[in-house]
Amino acid sequence: MVAQKRAQTEQFAFDVDAPGLIQLTNESHDKPAAHQYTVSIDDVTEDLMACTCPHHVHRNVFCNHMAAVENATNDGTLDVFPSEDDDRISGPYTGYGKYGTVDHTYWPCEDCGAEATRKGALTDCC
Ligand SMILES: [Zn+2]
Ligand SMILES: [Zn+2]
Repeated sequence: MVAQKRAQTEQFAFDVDAPGLIQLTNESHDKPAAHQYTVSIDDVTEDLMACTCPHHVHRNVFCNHMAAVENATNDGTLDVFPSEDDDRISGPYTGYGKYGTVDHTYWPCEDCGAEATRKGALTDCC
């Protein structure tokens, strides 16, 4: 009987370190911890920027880590820019001055009713 050679698929675990910074661990490797790389993504264009692996660093290739992140992003299994706010903050809404002119932009917290002109100000409101 001839042993069948199985196609080697690399199995990556993703860990979002920070928005746009994805840590990949190659779980198909014997020592996964020795094969951890970080792929960074531009937060404006959402383009893949770089990977910390030797293939990318030394040869500037589009490595399989970047490809894996791209695939996972495209099929929706990975959210590289997880929202830090939860659903309680809605908006932004437009606020009007007393003469009906557009005055400011605000974000209300659905839970406690607080309003802020900076979304970040509501992060700790309740
Ligand atoms: Zn890489
Ligand atoms: Zn609140």
